Amino acid sequence: MRLQSALAHPLDALDARFLAHLPDLVTTAEARRVDGGNQRLAEALAARLPGPVRTGSAVREIRREGDAIRVIGEGFELGVEACVVAIPLALLPELRFDPPLPDRQAEAIAAIPTSRAAKLAVPLRSRHAPRALMSARHRFWAWTTVCDGTGGRIANAWAGAAPVLGRLAVEAGPARWLARLGALWPGLDPVAEDALLTDWQRDRWARGAYSVLPGIADPRGDAAIAPPAPNLVFAGEHTAEPEWTGTIEGALRSGARAARDLLGEEPPRARAGPS
Ligand SMILES: Cc1cc2nc3c(=O)[nH]c(=O)nc-3n(C[C@H](O)[C@H](O)[C@H](O)COP(=O)(O)OP(=O)(O)OC[C@H]3O[C@@H](n4cnc5c(N)ncnc54)[C@H](O)[C@@H]3O)c2cc1C
Repeated sequence: MRLQSALAHPLDALDARFLAHLPDLVTTAEARRVDGGNQRLAEALAARLPGPVRTGSAVREIRREGDAIRVIGEGFELGVEACVVAIPLALLPELRFDPPLPDRQAEAIAAIPTSRAAKLAVPLRSRHAPRALMSARHRFWAWTTVCDGTGGRIANAWAGAAPVLGRLAVEAGPARWLARLGALWPGLDPVAEDALLTDWQRDRWARGAYSVLPGIADPRGDAAIAPPAPNLVFAGEHTAEPEWTGTIEGALRSGARAARDLLGEEPPRARAGPS
C-alpha cells in the first residue's frame, strides 16, 4: 500500500524491481522540506539566468535546421544553438520534432506510464501539532506540519494511483475525500468550503504526476531518452538514473547531466539509442 501510494501507480502494474524503494519509504529519518515550497528551487535557478524566463507559452515544435535549432511555440519562434527538452514525459508525444523522432524512440516514450496523484489541502480553524495518519482502508494519507506557512493550520492529504483517486471521487471535487478525512481524523475542524483539490492529471502543463520506470527490457529508459542530436538533449525526472526518477533530485541531476552533455564536459551516457 505504501509503495502504491508513493509511486502513485497501481501495485498490480508494478514489477518486483519497485520493492527496492521500500526501505526508503519506511525510513524514520526526518524528511527535509524546502522552506517556502519547492518552487523556490526553480525560482533560484531562474534568478541566475541573464534574461527572464518565458512562462505560459507552450513550445509546440522543435525543428533542426542544419546545426541550428528552431523552437516554435505559442506566439513565438526562437533560433538557438542548443536545446534541452525538459517537459513532462506525458506531454512529449504532443511535441512535434522535425525531423521526427525515430519510430522506436517515439514508441518507447509513449510506452512509459505516468503516475497519477492528487492532493487535498484544507484550512483548519485552529492550529494542530505535526502529525501524520494513513487511511489503510481508503489508501490515502494525511498530515499537518508547522512548515506549512501557517504554523499548522492546514491539513494536507495525498492519494496516489488512479484507482485510489477514483474511489475518492476526485473528479467530482473534494467532498468525498473531505468526508473520509473527517472520519480518519476526528477533531480536525476543517473549513471545508475552502478546500483545494489538485489532480495533476488535469493540469495541462503536467498531465500526471511523474514517470513510472519503463519495462524491464529497458529499465533505464534509454530508448526513450537518447539525444536526437548532439545539441538537442532530453532532461527531466524521467531521464534521471532509475533510482532518482520521479523526484526533484532526479530532475536536478538530469539538468546537470544535460548541461554537461551539451558542453561536452563528458561524453553523453552510453545509450542503446533507437535503431
Ligand atoms: C503531487 C506531487 C508530489 C510530489 N512530491 C515529491 C516529493 O515529495 N519529493 C520529490 O523529490 N519529488 C516529488 N514529486 C516529483 C517532482 O515534483 C518531480 O519529479 C519534478 O518536479 C520533475 O521535474 P521536471 O523538471 O522533470 O518536470 P516539471 O517540474 O514537471 O517541469 C516541466 C516544466 O515543463 C513545462 N512545460 C510543459 N509543457 C510544456 C511545453 N509544451 N512547452 C514549454 N514548457 C512546457 C511545465 O510547465 C513545467 O514547468 C512530486 C510530484 C507530484 C506531482
